[in-house]
Amino acid sequence: MGQSKCPNCDGTLEYRADHRKFGCNSCGSFFTEEQVKKLFKGKNKSQAARPIMEDDEFCQGELYKCTVCGAEIMAEADLKIGWCFCCGGGLQKQGNLPADYRPEGILPFEISRDAAVEILKDNLAYGKLSPSVFSSDEVLSGLKGVYLPVWMADCNVGINVNGTGRTVKSWIYGDQLYTETRDYSVERNGEAEYFSVPSDAVGKMDRDLMAMAGNYDFTKLQRFDSSDIFRYPAEYCPVNKGEAFKCIQEKVKEDTRKTVGKSVSKYTDFIPENEDIDILGTYWNYSLVPLWLLTYTSGRKTYRFAVNGQTGKFAGEPPVSPVKLTFWALLVFVTVVLLTLVLTTVTGFAGPSDQNGFLVRSIGTGAFLGAAAAALVCIAAVRSTRRSYEFVPDTYAGDAETSFTTKLDRYVRQYTTKVKNK
Ligand SMILES: [Zn+2]
Ligand SMILES: [Zn+2]
Repeated sequence: MGQSKCPNCDGTLEYRADHRKFGCNSCGSFFTEEQVKKLFKGKNKSQAARPIMEDDEFCQGELYKCTVCGAEIMAEADLKIGWCFCCGGGLQKQGNLPADYRPEGILPFEISRDAAVEILKDNLAYGKLSPSVFSSDEVLSGLKGVYLPVWMADCNVGINVNGTGRTVKSWIYGDQLYTETRDYSVERNGEAEYFSVPSDAVGKMDRDLMAMAGNYDFTKLQRFDSSDIFRYPAEYCPVNKGEAFKCIQEKVKEDTRKTVGKSVSKYTDFIPENEDIDILGTYWNYSLVPLWLLTYTSGRKTYRFAVNGQTGKFAGEPPVSPVKLTFWALLVFVTVVLLTLVLTTVTGFAGPSDQNGFLVRSIGTGAFLGAAAAALVCIAAVRSTRRSYEFVPDTYAGDAETSFTTKLDRYVRQYTTKVKNK
């Protein structure tokens, strides 16, 4: 068969005796010999169905490259963006946009600039712990809209599942509990087509910031229009197919398992004996997702905040102002001291108020309690600015078409048991 290329990531396929299949070292796909033969006879089905798009207009943009992090940034010709939005480094013009840099789809901004400013103000506001400068108009005017790349794949999936479908019925007759079990030999063979399954790879942008900005709903994907890129600069990132494929494969397999599960849902139980779900071909394309980005440098520290351009989710760690923190700590301290003074006077806890040393005892107790309370409040306040985030997967359309060429449910056996009903 010679050197065969992996249809999912262009890696090299090698026969793996332990799997009795051909395996790809870089993305972990497996193919039977039959599948490999078929693939190279008909080439990649989904790829062949796609017209190659030539778009002169797209090429009118310019490509810039960051001299620090290497990010490739696509922008309108002669737009003076000046610095790399991924790292703040300098940009060097590379020339016209290569035609194959054209994205397939785009998620439009649904959060307006004004709305994004409000979201930032809410999170970095006065009264909270961040220094006031962060919510000032001057800093907020630095808010920029950018597009980030997400690689996606259309996948052609081969399904080869068989197992036992079992129905269980039980009834009571007299003082006996009867259980009737019927077994069926179940076979599901076929194909499924998936479109635009997103991977998690996101170029040079800070991964933590992107993770905090949350997921995107790719069911709202629109066809890319070159005017989008002229409005906001976009990052291009070549795909690491092996890496991205692993993530896509997981999503597709999980989803295909669900589809197979639905087709055997009439059984009480399905016990799989063989479950081969393989991606037999992949068409790669990428889409742009919108993000509002604010970078602010104060002293030696650079702060970055982001607002998801589709959902409005805030991302970033709001800074804590020492002045504001001291103010809140003092307020709590003084309040507790005064409160203790009043309470000890009323209750006589620190002895009669006309006795010598009353003030010392009362204020001493108050200062002790006040310091503890202030410390607790400070810890709680600083903690509240720390963002914890959980990983939420992106929403995408999922299984577009599943066709089972074989859908066999063959009756095998039936048996009834009876036990004494308690
Ligand atoms: Zn591969
Ligand atoms: Zn950079």
